[in-house]
Amino acid sequence: MAAMTPLLTTRDLRKSYGGLRAVDGVDFAIVPGEIRAVIGPNGAGKTTFVSLICGRVPPTSGQIVFDGNDITDLPAHDRVRRGIAYTFQITSVFSNLTAYDNVALPVQRTLTDGRSKGRLHAGVMSALERTGLADRADTVAGALSYGHQRLLEVAMGLALRPRLLILDEPTQGLSDGEIEGFMQLVREIARDATVLLIEHNMQVVMGLADRITVMNTGKILAEGTPEQIRANAEVQRAYLGTEA
Ligand code: ATP
Repeated sequence: MAAMTPLLTTRDLRKSYGGLRAVDGVDFAIVPGEIRAVIGPNGAGKTTFVSLICGRVPPTSGQIVFDGNDITDLPAHDRVRRGIAYTFQITSVFSNLTAYDNVALPVQRTLTDGRSKGRLHAGVMSALERTGLADRADTVAGALSYGHQRLLEVAMGLALRPRLLILDEPTQGLSDGEIEGFMQLVREIARDATVLLIEHNMQVVMGLADRITVMNTGKILAEGTPEQIRANAEVQRAYLGTEA
């Protein structure tokens, strides 16, 4: 895997809020098809880091390259068009719209490839099917269970046909059974996309990720396979404690 050309790289990426260095010089690379987990204690800079990749916040300095192109200064919707989709911690579904419309909306809003109604419909249904929500297409999102609402967020990202899907704490609040299903879903998604997820559940991290990036105080503390991270004494001290 290491020899493959990365899909995404960041070089010396930084984001400061006043005197606080939320992201402090991150050099990062992810290769196509990889499942990468970003872990680290609260406030480590994980959400800020992925927000920089998505274009939700502008960096203070540094560079972001996606598929060989410098996207550092591109607005978020242009990044979506290039294949970067994300779902965030804060539930982003519209509770008064149906599951179907929630999935269709971001596609209509961001993709300007003149997609026909038929193709839009097929794409929305495919995303709902992949997430197991096809039979809930006409259900108002607010009436879905919490777990289904989280899956709906993933479907919203999937319908954009991303090359890189970014998930911020996707299993938060899910039951054990739902987490198992979610892990299977991510493995399926990774057959034709790259997945970058921020995750606190170490079982998910260790069971799902090809590689793990550990952040602490805005910097990358360690990077490696689940086995390497589990065995890393510095990571143990800073973060894992007895969890692993
Ligand atoms: P968590 O696991 O709790 O979500 P995190 O690793 O995702 O944490 P971030 O949310 O990226 O961490 O926050 C990194 C630091 O930047 C924190 O100290 C946070 O308070 C600060 N921060 C994040 N966004 C802003 C903002 N918009 N304005 C000011 N400070 C911010």
